[in-house]
Amino acid sequence: MTQVAWKPSFKPARTTVVEGPAIVGLELDPQVRRPWMTDGMTLHVPVPPGERTELTQGRALVWGRFGPDRRLPLVADGDAGLETAYPWADWRSYILSERYATTRRRPLHTRSPISYKVVPDRIRYVLARRMCRARAKQATAFPAAPFDGGFEALRSVVRGELTSDAPDPAPRICLTHDIDVPNFQFVKQIAHVESALGLRSCWNVVPFGYRVNYRVCDWLIENGFEIGLHGYCHDNRLIYLSESRLRRRLDACRGFVERYAVCGFRSPSWFRNARLMRVLADYVKYDCSCLDFDWLCPAGRGGVLTATPFRFGRLIEIPTTLPFEAPLLVGTDPADTVAYWRPKIDWLVQVHGQAVINAHPDPHYSGNGPMIAAYRQLLEELLAAYGDRWSLPRDLAEEVVANARCGL
Ligand SMILES: [Zn+2]
Repeated sequence: MTQVAWKPSFKPARTTVVEGPAIVGLELDPQVRRPWMTDGMTLHVPVPPGERTELTQGRALVWGRFGPDRRLPLVADGDAGLETAYPWADWRSYILSERYATTRRRPLHTRSPISYKVVPDRIRYVLARRMCRARAKQATAFPAAPFDGGFEALRSVVRGELTSDAPDPAPRICLTHDIDVPNFQFVKQIAHVESALGLRSCWNVVPFGYRVNYRVCDWLIENGFEIGLHGYCHDNRLIYLSESRLRRRLDACRGFVERYAVCGFRSPSWFRNARLMRVLADYVKYDCSCLDFDWLCPAGRGGVLTATPFRFGRLIEIPTTLPFEAPLLVGTDPADTVAYWRPKIDWLVQVHGQAVINAHPDPHYSGNGPMIAAYRQLLEELLAAYGDRWSLPRDLAEEVVANARCGL
């Protein structure tokens, strides 16, 4: 009989503690601090409910502040390599699926039998400004505008990105527009601004929200632009429908999708949930309904906290990182819009994030002289910052499909 030698195990005992979800401030060991971390930058990250491993071995690289006198290691470098206090795949999924955003609520207007669109555009714009200004005053809410470096910092440590090499897909400018109103008047004017700078963009259309101007859509396609889908009728109810009703709406859009070879989607007013994403995968290849830091969706704050595209089930998610007109909603003058975004653009370039712009050709947003001038200035600054690198979102999504490392 063969005798099997007994080998002692040197694996340290693991202690786990069950706790609730929290948003914790981060502190990083100087060894892993990133060059883009300034003293005033906010660094927070949501931690999931459930078992947290007490990291008692090795050198702590990232600490979480769970309270005024409670600081716990979240990432440690030990004999077995990097360890995280929560299983990394679960932790990342908890954030990218926005499950931490538990304060999101269904707005009243999505329950009303009468569409909110009976309210004139101008009054809706005033109400949106009021909502965003109230949110801007909630200083302790998470995530705060315009960005928080916590998740990018954490992820870069976990991924071991201690070099400055840019990951794939390479960061670039990616322009998108949502046509919310039947007025296509400013579409070509804005498209000409982009063309003059050698850029093209994706225009998201609402096939059953208004009388679509097919001549303008055809012109966009003929000139190298992309057409995307911006919901069915922009009543903000997509995520509250049963799956069968949701599919009926998307099925009705198939003619439009086929006419313009649509492969991308953005949900009206940023409403999104896991069911919408799962169903969408049967209709399009990519989605840009998620903001990296969301304080605009009427349902409440959230965001995927990263400027890097990732796989969301069978879809590619391209987070929108520069909702161009958002500063207007908190009272910023059009002439100061680019100045508002400049610190974020600097940060996006340093974290190798994608500059995914969203704008609207509506007269209340970018469809007017001062905002078109500001948009041109933004594009010029982005071209300088990104070394002229840009692509349509469909091409960015294709690169993510081809790159197995994305989303890690
Ligand atoms: Zn919209």
